[in-house]
Parts: sequence; structure tokens; C-alpha cells
Amino acid sequence: MQVAQTQQYLNTLYQKIRHPRIGTVLGLQEEVGELCKCIMEWEIYGSADPVHLGEECADVLFSLFDVCNGYNIDLEAASERKLEYLKSKIGDWEAKYEESLRMRREILDRS
Ligand SMILES: [Mg+2]
Repeated sequence: MQVAQTQQYLNTLYQKIRHPRIGTVLGLQEEVGELCKCIMEWEIYGSADPVHLGEECADVLFSLFDVCNGYNIDLEAASERKLEYLKSKIGDWEAKYEESLRMRREILDRS
């Protein structure tokens, strides 16, 4: 399913239980907190659960769609514009960060 289609689907799905706009932002923050808790359990307490992590990532994505719907943001169009910007910057970032990030991944992402 494409980004715009998913955003529209969730807009329809949540039609009768729509939060006020500020509630969508608070809901996104709540879901980011749940994602962070899952990552903490994985990275700090050694309790890796890829299925749970995937579910929390989906919660964050769907909450982001909810924010976009509340503020009439076309996330697909915004993402396409942002992707063009990222493509224009990637060479600079690679030159500046590639080696240091490779070394840090070797240390921090061993398991
Ligand atoms: Mg969640």
C-alpha cells in the first residue's frame, strides 16, 4: 500500500474516533515512548523481540499519519519533496560521516 493510500485509509478508519489535532501529536509522542521502551528492552536488558519492535514502529507510523491528517498534510508529497533534499545532501554527509559511523556501528551493533 502506498503512503497516500495508507494515510487516507487511516483517515477513514478513524473518522468516528478522531482526536483533536493536539491529541494526535500527544498520541505520536506516546507511541514514540513505547518504541523507545521496546528498544531499551532490546539494547539494555537483552530482551530482543523483533515482532514487538515492528508493531511499535507501525504504531509510530500510523500516529504520524494521524498527525498529518489532523493538519491536512499530504505526507507522500512532503516525503517526496524531502527525499529530493536528502538526495542533494547525501554526498556531503557521506564525505563527512561515513567512516566514523561505520566504526560506531561496528562497536554498538555487534549483536
Ligand atoms: Mg505502541
